[in-house]
Amino acid sequence: MVIKGEALIREGQHVLANTYARYPILLVRGKGAQVWDSNGREYLDFVAGIAVCNLGHCHPKVVQALEEQARQLIHCSNLYYNGPQVELARRLCEHSFGERVFFCNSGAEATEAAIKLARKYSKARYGPERYQIITMENSFHGRTMGALSATGQERFHKGFEPLLPGFTYCPFDDIEAVTRAIGAQTCAVMVEPIQGEGGIILPAPNYLKELRELCDQTGILLIYDEVQVGMGRTGRLFAYEHYATPPHIMTLAKSLANGVPIGALVATDMVAQAFVPGDHATTFGGNPLATAVGCCVIDTLVEDGILTNCEEMGQYLLQGLLDLKERYAFIKAVRGKGLMIGCELEFEGKKIVERCMEKGVLINCTAGKVLRFIPPLIITKGEIDYLLKCLDEVFAEQ
Ligand SMILES: *Cc1c(COP(=O)(O)O)cnc(C)c1O
Repeated sequence: MVIKGEALIREGQHVLANTYARYPILLVRGKGAQVWDSNGREYLDFVAGIAVCNLGHCHPKVVQALEEQARQLIHCSNLYYNGPQVELARRLCEHSFGERVFFCNSGAEATEAAIKLARKYSKARYGPERYQIITMENSFHGRTMGALSATGQERFHKGFEPLLPGFTYCPFDDIEAVTRAIGAQTCAVMVEPIQGEGGIILPAPNYLKELRELCDQTGILLIYDEVQVGMGRTGRLFAYEHYATPPHIMTLAKSLANGVPIGALVATDMVAQAFVPGDHATTFGGNPLATAVGCCVIDTLVEDGILTNCEEMGQYLLQGLLDLKERYAFIKAVRGKGLMIGCELEFEGKKIVERCMEKGVLINCTAGKVLRFIPPLIITKGEIDYLLKCLDEVFAEQ
């Protein structure tokens, strides 16, 4: 099929809502860490759908799971059970602190579910005034009104006020600030174990542990947003494993089904019990197509040595970027865990992203000045070498 890329891009500028500053290429195909545009141009993909395609594009096992389930049953209402939904919930619980799972369709929806569950649990247990949630400055939890209100960045709020009441923002990685912010109305603390959109910010090693202790002293729920860092991105299935501190509630989405829309809230049984029939629902949540792929993703991640590759290639890329930092004074910092790596520049990263794209490498920039590298976890040394060579050339032009 001939795809008229330029014409579709021009049409898209008129028929699509103007919510993204899109680059003028149209992607038509992907395999592993590569994607192709409508002109047949090949790109190495260090964006991976923004940490979505962790197994790479069109992984054969994912394609097979999709095909098989599409022939069997694509959707049925949550008025009935379906097998893949139970299978995925079991796998998530087996591999985490969790005991019950609620399925939805995106990260923002998982955040909404977490807000509702934390409020319901805390109000029932401690009284109706206990509804406030502490979240962090520079955080990102999604774009729906509740998730937007949880997000501690004013630039996302502007133009959409009034926000949902009941959120207090604290500086990230500052345990004293949270201690001061906790009051009789506090029901939960919500935090990304590593901040993603905020610029790949890692907390001190004991931060999550201290947060958990603080929460336990006061019966407050600890919620981790693992939408970006979960599902192997940092070299462990869940990022909190690095810090040996489980939460009461965890949200997942992005790579949970490698690109098929899905979100999940994972919780301890005690907390999850606060939801009873009628409290929360979504038509598509946990549908057999998405959850069958989710099962395939977890099995593949844990069985095929992908987490080990993530850890090793993450080290390799981090070191390569640190070597570049030695040579280019405008690189302020290089940091990350597994294959979630940020390279902070002294200037806006947009033109670096554009030059890399011209050279056939897709990278992303977040928080203005942080180049973000979140490739598929199956990335190879040769592919990383290509990125590093390309970055070296582009940096040399600056
Ligand atoms: C992407 C993201 C979300 C929002 O997910 P959507 O599926 O876009 O709604 C929430 N939290 C974090 C940490 C994210 O990275």
